[in-house]
Parts: sequence; structure tokens; C-alpha cells
Amino acid sequence: MSVIHVPVLVEEVLEYLGNTEGVFLDCTVGLGGHAEAILNNCDRSFVVGLDVDEDALSIARERLARFINEGRLKLFKSSYVEARKVLNQLGINRVDAILMDLGVSSMQLEKAERGFSFNRDGPLDMRMDKEQTLTAYEVVNSWDEEALSRIIFEYGEEKRYSRRIAKYIVQSRPIETTKQLVEVLAKAIPNKHGRKRHFATKVFQAIRIAVNNELDNLKRFLSDVPDLLNTGGRIGVISFHSLEDRIVKEFFKKESRLKQLTKKPITPKESEIELNPRSRSAKLRVAERV
Ligand code: SAH
Repeated sequence: MSVIHVPVLVEEVLEYLGNTEGVFLDCTVGLGGHAEAILNNCDRSFVVGLDVDEDALSIARERLARFINEGRLKLFKSSYVEARKVLNQLGINRVDAILMDLGVSSMQLEKAERGFSFNRDGPLDMRMDKEQTLTAYEVVNSWDEEALSRIIFEYGEEKRYSRRIAKYIVQSRPIETTKQLVEVLAKAIPNKHGRKRHFATKVFQAIRIAVNNELDNLKRFLSDVPDLLNTGGRIGVISFHSLEDRIVKEFFKKESRLKQLTKKPITPKESEIELNPRSRSAKLRVAERV
């Protein structure tokens, strides 16, 4: 099966990070869409690409084989939280550009067996890293009502119905599949058809963030960024929901060693959203090491 993941905001990423000479760290290389654009655009860059998803990496390895052979790209199965360690092993202390493209790849969403999608029936999994032990199954079936309600409130920003949803989940156990979870949510969420997005969106987001510890990972990595960037080096972060965007925005604002280059986040043009609906909620923020 050929998997398509159209990279988001590529032109804009190239505008801000496309002049990189030296080391480019792609924290979330995925299927290699952005990495390929960077490698084609900057002849003098060397890219280090990380991802925790072995399936994604094997596609990227194949797709970008020519750059690997030329010695311009190295890919590692690693969380970006461990970026510093990976770089040090390569003898690199600082880099010239960093890209983070947060969120889920189309490949992860489309493969039912990964359990990310409320549109496809699959096991409750949602792990980006299949070697990890915590799965969505465990969150849904063994976390207590209070903990569930808290993540639905905080990570799903499902403020009004978080308690009610948590209660329904606990009462409906065991819940084995994504489809069963959607059925529970359909009962738990009142007025579900009056929403802009599918009624399961926020709860799925909440569980995914919890399973992958996404917000803590982002915060931990950001705190390393000023020490990882050379002077004049840049970091670009593409986020897909307001919790991530807020973390990035506040970090760039408070960190005196970084200067924001994007006062307002950059969002995709209408034409991009039309071609790639997944880009609809993307926001890019860029900062420079001073
Ligand atoms: N820019 C990529 C798409 C990235 S999608 C492209 O153009 O193809 C986001 C990717 O981030 C996914 O592949 C996911 O597995 C990865 N990811 C999520 N959490 C991660 C982490 N902590 N460390 C490294 N990669 C992570």
C-alpha cells in the first residue's frame, strides 16, 4: 500500500528554514516530506531525522535513500526528547535549524490497526511508538473516572461534558475498539450534531495526548532548544491544536535567548487547505537564537 502524507506549510517552512547551511534537526521526520524539501532546497545542509514510529521511518528510509547514500541524511528511531543524546553521539553539539511537525501523520490515521482514527474501526492503541507499554486501551479501561475526566477536560478541552463522558466510559467497560468508543461517546455527548467537528474529535485527541505524553514531551524538548541552536539558528514548530500552540507561543515569549520571527502564527493559505484538509488547523511559529 502506498501511503501519502502531504507535508504541511512546506513553502512557509522553506521561507524561514530553507537557507540552512549546516545541521538541520527534523524532530518528527515522519514520512520525510519536510526533510525531502529541505534536502532539495539546501544543498549544503545535513539532516538528522528522528521519529518514534518505526513504520514511518522505514518509509522515509526508502523515500530518501539517495540522501542517505550521499551522506546528507541520517535517520534514527528516537524521541525528540532524546535529541541531544542522539546529536552528541554524532559528535554534534549544536544545530542550525530545528523543525517540529507535531500531531499525527496521515499514515498513522489511515491505518485502522494503529487505533488513532474515530473513522476506522481498530484496537484502542494510539501509540506513536509501538515499543511503549501504555496504550489507549489501558487509559480507557483502567484509568479511574477522575483521571479520565481530567484528561478529557484538559487535553481534549471538552470542558462542559468531561465528567459526563468519563462516567459513560467507566460504565461501558470493557471498551475494546475505536468504534465501540465512538458509540459510547455518541451516547454521552448531548447535541453532538451541532458541532463544527466530529463529536469524537476532542476525546480522541485527549486520549492520544495522554498515551504519548505529548505536552510534557514538547515542554521538555523546548527547554533544550536554546542550548541546541547555534547563534542565528532557527526553530520552527507546526502545531495542530491550541494546547500545543500555547506552549510554543509562551515559551518563545519568555525565553530571552530566542527571538520570535512570527508575531502571529503562520497558517496555511486557502489553496493549501483545499488540497490538504489536514492542514486546516496547522500553525507555524518560528524563533531565532540570538
Ligand atoms: N513532517 C513529516 C510528518 C510528521 S507527522 C512529513 O513531512 O512526513 C508527526 C510525526 O511525529 C509522526 O510520524 C510521529 O510518529 C512523530 N512523533 C510523535 N511524537 C514523537 C516524539 N516524541 N519524538 C519523535 N517523533 C515523534
